[in-house]
Amino acid sequence: MTCSIHIQPLPGETVYSLVSRYHLLSGNANESASYSALYSSNRARINAYLPSQLQRTGYYFGLAPEALLWNHTLYPLFASFIAPRRAQELKRAMFLNFGSHVGEKAGLPQSKLKFTTGHKHCPMCLTEDLKQIGVGYFRNCHQLPGVNSCPTHASQLFCTAISDFSLDRSLVLPRSDMSPLPADKASVNLSRFGASVIQQLQIRQEFPDYRRAYRIQLNKKGLLTKNRNVRIRRVIPALKTHWSALEKIYTNQFECPDQLLTFEFVGPLLRAKTHYPTHPIKHLLFAEWLFDGDANLFWDADEEEQLILPGFGVPTVGNSRTNRDDFFSNRETRRRSIRDYMDGHPFAIRKDIKAARNADFFWLYHNDRDWLEQQLPSPMPPHRPEMNWHAVDDEMCKMVHEQTLQLSEPISVSELDIMLGGHRWLTKFLENLPRTRNLIRDQLAKGIIKKVG
Ligand SMILES: [Zn+2]
Repeated sequence: MTCSIHIQPLPGETVYSLVSRYHLLSGNANESASYSALYSSNRARINAYLPSQLQRTGYYFGLAPEALLWNHTLYPLFASFIAPRRAQELKRAMFLNFGSHVGEKAGLPQSKLKFTTGHKHCPMCLTEDLKQIGVGYFRNCHQLPGVNSCPTHASQLFCTAISDFSLDRSLVLPRSDMSPLPADKASVNLSRFGASVIQQLQIRQEFPDYRRAYRIQLNKKGLLTKNRNVRIRRVIPALKTHWSALEKIYTNQFECPDQLLTFEFVGPLLRAKTHYPTHPIKHLLFAEWLFDGDANLFWDADEEEQLILPGFGVPTVGNSRTNRDDFFSNRETRRRSIRDYMDGHPFAIRKDIKAARNADFFWLYHNDRDWLEQQLPSPMPPHRPEMNWHAVDDEMCKMVHEQTLQLSEPISVSELDIMLGGHRWLTKFLENLPRTRNLIRDQLAKGIIKKVG
């Protein structure tokens, strides 16, 4: 069944907020009735930033699930910092009815970070929305876990905690009785950076090669040693100073374990070897400082930086030699896998290789891209459909004939081409249209079309 009310998501609205607005407009007796209509189940819980059931939600409201995923959830951000295969699994969990798998695929349990769960809003955004569109709603960019201020108004976010009272499965919209409070500058910088990264992801629809981006900026800032190791003893104190104001905010407002602001996560975050998911807040804290707040630098990996990847790791305690050897033998195995496949399939295109040797392909893509690019066949040129010149000739002949009948004075061939759509069929491609060419010659001779030059 699809929705009988015409309702579309507002700019940057969360899926929960869309469903809440639907519920309030539907006149359904209670939440269960709305959940039943949408999900054929009277019990549901919609996550503020990683909701599941997007296929059903999309179908019900007549929206593409992919558009919901990219523009109305924090999937792009979470998927940026997990392995490509895991990102695919996360997407699948969000599309289907696997709510309980979503957090797991996004790596939330491993992150051991506990943030208040609920739906956050900015009282000033709300006032503006009520004035301009007559309804307040929850915005996707406010739902970033660990971020607590509005990037537009620099005011503190208010959280409607869903674990409170009976709100658990309620469908509500932001409360309008909250007074705005100014947020701390550090908190605003973090939220602006987060919002900007989300926006860049939505525009580019491309995950950043963040390790490469980090390496380039660390190098520029003189934070790599001659051996291309990170000067971690300089990085961590600088991060602590940069974010010192956050400590108070986090202690007051979030159940936040000590580990976040000790920045001990930075070492593992930078090591190329590990691919375990990292919570985006860790990347945002690190990258905002490293990039001086410029989210574009996540994609600024065009420069030719010949840095040694395996050595990029932060010096590990004790067994760094072993890690290094592991990396090289792992790399060799994966390179061989790609080479073997290509030897056995000389006509394989990139897509085939990616499909056949998926894990090796993506490992190399992230850890050994230059080598991979050298091996792979050139990307296929985009397929252009063959032009049916015969049909174009018929059509143009008819149009030229009709158009010239209506002329009050002669025009040139190029003017006529512009009148007929500007495809340059009458100028550049006339040789392909024999009937039209004869007609134009004829009309030139009669003076209906004028000669130019
Ligand atoms: Zn705001």
